[in-house]
Amino acid sequence: MQKLEELYKGKAKSVYATDDADHFIMHFRNDTSAFDGKKLAQLDRKGMVNNKFNAFIMAKLQEAGVPTHFEKLLSDTECLVKKLKMIPVECVIRNYAAGSLCRRLGIQEGRHISPPTFELFLKDDSLGDPMINDSHAETFGWATKAQLQQMRELTYKVNEVLQPLFEQGGMLLVDFKLEFGLFHDQLILGDEFSPDGCRLWDAETREKMDKDRFRQDLGNVIEFYEEVGKRLGVVF
Ligand code: ADP
Ligand code: UDP
Repeated sequence: MQKLEELYKGKAKSVYATDDADHFIMHFRNDTSAFDGKKLAQLDRKGMVNNKFNAFIMAKLQEAGVPTHFEKLLSDTECLVKKLKMIPVECVIRNYAAGSLCRRLGIQEGRHISPPTFELFLKDDSLGDPMINDSHAETFGWATKAQLQQMRELTYKVNEVLQPLFEQGGMLLVDFKLEFGLFHDQLILGDEFSPDGCRLWDAETREKMDKDRFRQDLGNVIEFYEEVGKRLGVVF
């Protein structure tokens, strides 16, 4: 598989064309961003850690019957993925209150949320990724009713698979964000699952082990990402 031109440079990853019309190469860079790109940094080893972490989680999801774009690892910082037409909607599930939910609804951080909530956000940094509902998505053509239904079902399924996995490693899966896309009209999971796009707390101490360490200047960001991986059995 030949790596061709860079098609898209996001805040943390780059997407490259390949000589195969159905596949892209996804490159995890060391760049880190928060607050819709307003806070930026370079973190040593981050690209490698997130690439391998993502490969591990995508394989677990695939095994559990969640269709994903992940094909294989290509190098420490690159993987081969199916070329998707991305749906510009972020799907978020919450098991414990944190982040924007607390700010929006005044819920205390750390409160257990049962049943878990499901939220949609429009993927648009210039607008600050605003929260939307099904009606907005359908009316403005971001996703169809059937796609929304599938994204919701798959996101809950991912929660059912990953919650016990993190629990076995002594962690709480607080919340997470997923992105989906279309591969020849089939809706599948795209993008990544890593501590950059979810919240993970130590189950005993509730110490933060995810990107909140970067957002809140808590330090040792990548050391904690690696610790999360080690607890799950990811080989870096
Ligand atoms: P952002 O765009 O939010 O800055 P990244 O730096 O993570 O995010 O860039 C990765 C980009 O690649 C995202 O826009 C994501 O939607 C897109 N993407 C992820 N997986 C695929 C895929 N399989 N096919 C096409 N685009 C993808
Ligand atoms: N998230 C993400 N990308 C975004 C927005 C949110 O990966 O553009 C993740 C975030 O890391 C958290 C979950 O989605 O795990 C819920 O985020 P929230 O709505 O609480 O927003 P935040 O507090 O990050 O502004």
